[in-house]
Amino acid sequence: MKICVVGGGLSGLVSALELAGTHEVDLFERKPVPGGCLGSYRIGDYWIEEYYHHCFAGDTALLDLFDALQVADRMVWLRGSTGYYVDGNIHPLTTPLEILRYPHLTLMEKARLGLLTLRSRRLDASALDGITAKDFILENLGSGVYSSFFEPLLNSKFGDRAGEVSAAWLISRIAIRSDRGAGGERLGYLKGGFRHFVARIEEEAARRGATILSGTPVEEIRREGGGWTVNGQAYDAVISTLPPQVTADLAGLDIAKIPYQGAACMTLALDRDVTDRIYWLNMKDRAPYGAVVSHTNFAPLEWYGEHIVYLASYFTGMLPEGLEQSMLADFCRRFSVDEGEVHWHRLAVDPYAGPVYTTGLRNRLPDYEEHGLFLAGMFSPPNYPERSMNGSVVAGQEAAKRVLARYPDA
Ligand SMILES: Cc1cc2nc3c(=O)[nH]c(=O)nc-3n(C[C@H](O)[C@H](O)[C@H](O)COP(=O)(O)OP(=O)(O)OC[C@H]3O[C@@H](n4cnc5c(N)ncnc54)[C@H](O)[C@@H]3O)c2cc1C
Repeated sequence: MKICVVGGGLSGLVSALELAGTHEVDLFERKPVPGGCLGSYRIGDYWIEEYYHHCFAGDTALLDLFDALQVADRMVWLRGSTGYYVDGNIHPLTTPLEILRYPHLTLMEKARLGLLTLRSRRLDASALDGITAKDFILENLGSGVYSSFFEPLLNSKFGDRAGEVSAAWLISRIAIRSDRGAGGERLGYLKGGFRHFVARIEEEAARRGATILSGTPVEEIRREGGGWTVNGQAYDAVISTLPPQVTADLAGLDIAKIPYQGAACMTLALDRDVTDRIYWLNMKDRAPYGAVVSHTNFAPLEWYGEHIVYLASYFTGMLPEGLEQSMLADFCRRFSVDEGEVHWHRLAVDPYAGPVYTTGLRNRLPDYEEHGLFLAGMFSPPNYPERSMNGSVVAGQEAAKRVLARYPDA
């Protein structure tokens, strides 16, 4: 059988990998190289992700795939420290002592927050799909914790849709990020970058016979007799990993929309650390970015020879005009960096960087098969209530499984 996979992010690559060898597989990727949100830049002699990435101990499908593709020897478990930038000051929030010293929450608020963190692992996050994060926090932790702690985080992540985000998303984030010891969260990374993982999937899929057509956007998906045509070529089955509304437009099918947000992420390099050795610094003060993620306060500096910093920003609708200049100018002013100190900077923009986990989304997620078309991606159930590399691996595997169940032989 001839199978077409649309999109060369993690979901599409994994689907192609699973199907190659049994079926003839063509993967169409719009960009010059596959990887999607897990794409990387080559800077001198190292690779760095366009968007900050780490993985978690519970990412079993991802870790198993690292093993199967022989990249597990690159796996390192590191500590990720956190902090909050408030009123022009950096507040470390990693150790219990640092949390106790944080001046913007009362002792009682900290105790309630700590209890919720402990409880979060036992709560069924998806059962909280119908209640907003805001209402949940107001009810359980009070308005002080909401306004001085969670509201800025929700605003920086979801902008003007922050008020619609469900408690399912928030609780799953708290639970996943509570795997921490005294030195910070335990987070995984691949030495040399996740680029090696993407390259290995591509290499292995090609070795099994898949054809990866990079730089080849899909412009049309049409039903043709019992099968499909994609850009005019005939296929027996199609797996689309694009957002449901994009697939719906390309295929002229009625598939329900999922609310999405865009990401604009600046990566830059410096000679020095500017976030007091903190990996993940959330911004409470208003800035054109919601977090400063100092990659080299997480991965060892000697791998790169320069400090690498991400400025993370999300948007809905159009990319705000002049964002690149305003991000850089604000960062330099706020962290006392002369623009001449910035070795290089790049801005990655993806208008479909992830779903907005609004209330009720759980029941609106598309099925793996709609109108005879297979679908897998950031909108699939394994990526609810937060998208992840692990979720996209599982979604890609699951879609391939369904194609194999329908077409067991070539
Ligand atoms: C800012 C950011 C930070 C993240 N951090 C983490 C993290 O720390 N840990 C973690 O586990 N996960 C993280 N993720 C999530 C993770 O990157 C994603 O879940 C995963 O990479 C998504 O893969 P995907 O294939 O489902 O979607 P995508 O990566 O979006 O892949 C879709 C692909 O389709 C291609 N495409 C689009 N239109 C067409 C067309 N017409 N024709 C052909 N191809 C097309 C796109 O170019 C893209 O390659 C992060 C994501 C972002 C955006």
